[in-house]
Amino acid sequence: MKKSILGLVILLSLGMTSKSQLKVGFEVSFKEPHAHYVEMEMNISGLSKEYIDVKMPVWAPGSYLIREFAKSVEGFSATAGAKALKFEKVRKNAWRIYNGAAKELKIKYRVYAFEVSVRTSFVDDTHAFLSSTGIFMYPDGQLNLPSTVKVNPYTGWTKVSTGLEPVAGQVFTYSAENFDVLFDSPIEVGNQDVFDFMASGVKHTVAMYGGGNYDKERLKVDMAKVAEQATAIYGENPNAHYTFIVHNFERGGGGLEHLNSTVLGGSRDGYGTPEGYNSFLDLVAHEYHHLWNVKRMRPVALGPFDYDNENYTTNLWVAEGFTSYYENKLMLRAGFNTPETFVSNLATALANVNNTPGSRVQSAAEASYDAWIKSYRPNENSNNATISYYGKGEIIGLIMDLEISQATKGAKSLDDVMKAMYLEGKAKKRGYTDAEFKAKVEQISGKDFSGFWEKYVNGTVPVEYDKYFEYAGITVVDENKGNSIPYVGVTSKASNGIVFISAVSRNSAAWLAGLNVNDAVVSVNGEVTSGAPLERSAPVTSAKIGDVITVSVLREGVLRDFKLTIKANPNLKLNVTIRKDASAAQLKVRKGWMGI
Ligand SMILES: [Zn+2]
Repeated sequence: MKKSILGLVILLSLGMTSKSQLKVGFEVSFKEPHAHYVEMEMNISGLSKEYIDVKMPVWAPGSYLIREFAKSVEGFSATAGAKALKFEKVRKNAWRIYNGAAKELKIKYRVYAFEVSVRTSFVDDTHAFLSSTGIFMYPDGQLNLPSTVKVNPYTGWTKVSTGLEPVAGQVFTYSAENFDVLFDSPIEVGNQDVFDFMASGVKHTVAMYGGGNYDKERLKVDMAKVAEQATAIYGENPNAHYTFIVHNFERGGGGLEHLNSTVLGGSRDGYGTPEGYNSFLDLVAHEYHHLWNVKRMRPVALGPFDYDNENYTTNLWVAEGFTSYYENKLMLRAGFNTPETFVSNLATALANVNNTPGSRVQSAAEASYDAWIKSYRPNENSNNATISYYGKGEIIGLIMDLEISQATKGAKSLDDVMKAMYLEGKAKKRGYTDAEFKAKVEQISGKDFSGFWEKYVNGTVPVEYDKYFEYAGITVVDENKGNSIPYVGVTSKASNGIVFISAVSRNSAAWLAGLNVNDAVVSVNGEVTSGAPLERSAPVTSAKIGDVITVSVLREGVLRDFKLTIKANPNLKLNVTIRKDASAAQLKVRKGWMGI
């Protein structure tokens, strides 16, 4: 090993390189962090052609939207020694540099970073969060190349946290075996609070930015429990080390998964309450589970990535939905949720899907495929026309799990499918197809799932929740069944004392009568609404089913009246009971399913 590495070094130093031996090194520094800029230097050597194209990705894997990161690049220049090189843009995200006979060149550019999110970079005078797809460029067609990254922290900054491999003996210098790894490794630079814990034989590092009322010792113990429960499902933890980059905001939320790291949005003062603390651990469980589901056991379209275009898959209901489902399962198994909370969370998720009119319009597979244009680009009608592949996927995970457990009398569960799919993907070194995933479910359950796929994955049939929960001896009651709760089907809110409609639900009284989003509600049955949302106004809440109410609105400056015939609330409100008197067969299914 040592010998061959040494040989390569000598070869490179003699300049005996070809196209496949380009060497790429980055240097990252900060001159004006307060103005939100990161200064980039990209050194490429081993050039063998007269020009080279370098590109910046247009999206960040895990977040399915074209974000056009090149929009934040400025001051691009290229030099070979002291000589400035000619370059031109050849695509929105590509620069062609004419190096002529020069064998190496230096590219410089600056990136403006002022978007706070887990998938975009942000730099200010207190820290830098570098989301790699929006920071680093790559030589076109050379994603397999290794690279090094040297970080020069701004004056007063002392720490760098990243999942990238440190280069021994070189301060703040890291290596990536290829660009997929580099693009999957965000970097935090600043004075973050860093602490470690061990779990499943892997060193885990937590880098907390933004302060907060967290208890480090408690987090170390509890995050390790989550990591160990996740590892137990897959039988092995593929990482040598893992990094949590946590940004604590006034109000946090959201995370993005990476190969051996994750970025989480925490709430600075949220760690002190049981709900806040559990919601942070929920987020940890979700993103950590992704290191298997989607980062390794992945849909075939999601890696190796095309960084120029949308990457289409019909399987985000597995990648994201099942991860939401497992987030809940891990919280149960790690002891942070009781079986009652576990089941009631699932019932809430089930009701949410059912209560979204779009669940009868868009399937889980369609929602996955169109994530780029629908889920990530919602509008006022999204609830009527689309369903979240997170929520629907979570429900599919639940009923698939119960169906497998029922079919095998509790001997197998969805865990066995996940583990087998992970190991198969590892052996085949590629992602799975929809057919392969279905075949694995059928193999493990010994049951035909064609009807299941037709109804719940590719179709829009509401889930027969009582049937599935009954497998495990759980009773579900819809508290809203046969109700006479008046329902108009709008969401409205006051702005400067005027109530505006912000959503109208498909087939509701408001929808049928013709109320629109952006209508300003003036009065209901002649009574001025005076800031109360329409749906909570007295004439609505006191109405009987079948009553007709008159809603007067201002639309484009014109006063109009609409007559709404009140209907009963169509939404599910599920109450679940884990029965103590469940049969022996149901208890077996329950135990196999919950895994506790
Ligand atoms: Zn996720």
